[in-house]
Amino acid sequence: MEYPIPDHLKPFFTPVGEDNSELRVTGAIRCKCGSALFTPYTNEAGTIAAAKCRKCGAKILLLHAGRHGWDGFVAKADYLYDLPTKMHALEACPRCEAQTPLAVKVTVTSFGREDFIRDSELSDEDGHPLREEDWVNAFSSFRMDVVCPECGGTTESIIDIETA
Ligand SMILES: [Zn+2]
Ligand SMILES: [Zn+2]
Repeated sequence: MEYPIPDHLKPFFTPVGEDNSELRVTGAIRCKCGSALFTPYTNEAGTIAAAKCRKCGAKILLLHAGRHGWDGFVAKADYLYDLPTKMHALEACPRCEAQTPLAVKVTVTSFGREDFIRDSELSDEDGHPLREEDWVNAFSSFRMDVVCPECGGTTESIIDIETA
């Protein structure tokens, strides 16, 4: 089965759990260096998310709603062109407040490959051609959670936005 893992996340994304399908996938984020502990960053609106690896310092862009998802990638929704880019670091676990690097979990939902092909007619709003394989880039929602290595707790979503 194909999962809706967007191209920009593929190098970092490992599906976890039993509940994955063409319409929904949850995965753990892992840096190319092998580490899975990060300082997560988000903007205030929850439309941009990134993570900085605490081992090698690499920065991974997890979501930019102006470029990713149906609205950013296909529909080119106007309001997405001017996203506030001031980023805030999540330096501590939101549950136990320990100052610690955090693991990052991402859930992406999709309307599936066939819907994408039909609704996009395989070009974006600006008339640029799209490939069938781009269906993973036109996801319909994005959720980010953090998992704390100190208390083992998982958040009830740091970001949870509709992107379609
Ligand atoms: Zn790294
Ligand atoms: Zn904690």
